Amino acid sequence: MSLAMPPVCSATVANRKEIAAGLRSIVPDGVIEIADELKPYESDGLTAYRQPPLVVVLPETTEQVSRVLAWCHREGIKVVPRGAGTSLSGGALPLADGVLLGLARMNRVLDIDYVDRVAVVRPGVTNLAVTGAVEGEGFYYAPDPSSQIACTIGGNVAENSGGVHCLKYGLTTNNVLGVEMVLADGEIIRLGGRDLEAAGLDLLGLVVGSEGLLGVVTEVTVRILPTPETARAILLGFPTTRAAGDCVAQIIGEGIIPAGMEMMDKPATHAAEAFVKAGYPLDVEALLIVEVDGPPVECDILLETIAGIAAAHGATTSRISQNEEERLRFWAGRKAAFPAVGRLAPDYYCMDGTIPRKRLSEVLERMAELSRQYGLGVANVFHAGDGNLHPLILYDANQPGQLEKAEAFGADILRMCVEVGGVLTGEHGVGVEKRDLMPTMFNEVDLAHQQRIKCAFDPELKLNPGKVFPQLHRCAELGRMHVHKGQVPFPDLPRF
Ligand SMILES: Cc1cc2nc3c(=O)[nH]c(=O)nc-3n(C[C@H](O)[C@H](O)[C@H](O)COP(=O)(O)OP(=O)(O)OC[C@H]3O[C@@H](n4cnc5c(N)ncnc54)[C@H](O)[C@@H]3O)c2cc1C
Repeated sequence: MSLAMPPVCSATVANRKEIAAGLRSIVPDGVIEIADELKPYESDGLTAYRQPPLVVVLPETTEQVSRVLAWCHREGIKVVPRGAGTSLSGGALPLADGVLLGLARMNRVLDIDYVDRVAVVRPGVTNLAVTGAVEGEGFYYAPDPSSQIACTIGGNVAENSGGVHCLKYGLTTNNVLGVEMVLADGEIIRLGGRDLEAAGLDLLGLVVGSEGLLGVVTEVTVRILPTPETARAILLGFPTTRAAGDCVAQIIGEGIIPAGMEMMDKPATHAAEAFVKAGYPLDVEALLIVEVDGPPVECDILLETIAGIAAAHGATTSRISQNEEERLRFWAGRKAAFPAVGRLAPDYYCMDGTIPRKRLSEVLERMAELSRQYGLGVANVFHAGDGNLHPLILYDANQPGQLEKAEAFGADILRMCVEVGGVLTGEHGVGVEKRDLMPTMFNEVDLAHQQRIKCAFDPELKLNPGKVFPQLHRCAELGRMHVHKGQVPFPDLPRF
């Protein structure tokens, strides 16, 4: 691993047996310490980085989570929370001297209230299982990451995950009303609730997207929505990415918020078509799939308007889905695009950055130039409506130096996203992947403010250290001073 991680505490590593025994006294049937059994936990979706954890603990109740955290806090042991381990930014990457706290066994739906339109679930419930629990009554949970069959709601909260339908219905943060969370010292708190107006400071927004750095989420109250009456899609092909990008900008500019608006470039379109035979045109440089939902009459009007805008931008393909089967076929290629691109090269590296929509064509052109410079191919699949790019950099991990080249290419893409007024991540989080790029977007003062928040929740810096912050300063360095009985923490540091 070429990544710098926090120094490993050898005393903690030497104490593995005692630590496992301590955890077993809290979760008798949920501690893993044998090397072979730790293997499945050694990485998440960012598989380039691997590190077996010290020990895995799999609690089943909030009380157990609280006791585990309180115990680790007392013993000074680091803790990495983990849901399903699908993070693409290495957020759930274990530490050699850290306990991996897996939430997968906390997978019950606790309550569904169709009048208030909320579901209360444990963090290990998968995203798709939330919809599964309510679809019989004509409801669904809107945020739909492509990994929804596997990823957990706890992980979605920690990453503020998105998906195709987040353009219209918002990201996780817009669909979570409340959480129960256990702090690093074991204290159980509640933020938000079932209603829009919760008492106290609105700290929920801090927790959504906090990547396991502020606490461990043990219960989530999500908004559920009635399933739309109709959904229809239009397939649009363009001779240039500029025309497609301009079309996207104008659709939004006209005040239309489609349920989803996804773009694929030529390499991705060809790979997807070869993979699933979705009926995509192969003579276009950029393909757009735009979906609208709602009452049929509204869908008809919106589709007609969108087709008109596309025609004005020179669309050479314009096909409206005539039935549900055709709509699903349009999406089948997009949904299979990642595995399809996997056939183009032995490995690919999936990036995630966000740009202002109007800079789309310029960014794609500069990316093509970078691709030439690095000598590595790139295919683009992205949430065009919200400017969230997912360039897939093609490489061969068996060729010495290619992974490093792919990472450098990816870093250049993210720097470009920031340079054109965008951000480092759209939905996959910072984790370890983008940690060292944080200074391209935030200055020292911004980073210090963010770390003060970390210190307020986790003053000992034991929750998921090594993630998000390029350099984790001690809390005293950031000016947070608790003087207990005259004992000044970090007495070696100069005071002002
Ligand atoms: C094929 C594929 C497609 C994907 N598509 C999308 C997509 O369309 N949109 C998208 O947004 N993401 C996508 N992802 C990324 C990933 O699925 C999401 O980030 C997801 O939310 C991670 O959930 P998880 O349960 O796997 O969390 P993990 O990977 O286990 O953990 C992710 C982070 O959350 C923290 N965490 C997990 N559970 C908790 C908890 N209960 N309390 C506190 N912190 C916690 C971890 O410490 C870590 O920092 C995709 C991943 C894959 C592999």
